Amino acid sequence: MSAEREWRSRAACRGVDGEIFFPTATEGPTYEAQVAVAKAVCVRCPVRAECLDEALVRIPYGIAGGLTPEERRGRGRPVAQETTAVVEAGLRAGAHRGER
Ligand code: SF4
Repeated sequence: MSAEREWRSRAACRGVDGEIFFPTATEGPTYEAQVAVAKAVCVRCPVRAECLDEALVRIPYGIAGGLTPEERRGRGRPVAQETTAVVEAGLRAGAHRGER
């Protein structure tokens, strides 16, 4: 494994349903909730900086590096911190949709 790719092995999203990083909604409360679920994974990721570096260069879609595509382009409004905190609490309780 190249050093450039090694960080992926430490990603918090390994083993998580990748679909959570691609919201099905495009706006509104459902979108914000879906984004918060993904961000709750990213916020505890030890390689978020490395992921964001790559995402800023070559990942146009989905949540990556803890940011939405709009945020990565510097145009977005971050999802409310309290929303992320609530979802993260749910994830800790084993309530996210990636766990079956
Ligand atoms: S920052 Fe998010 S999308 Fe990037 S590797 Fe970490 S958990 Fe995955």
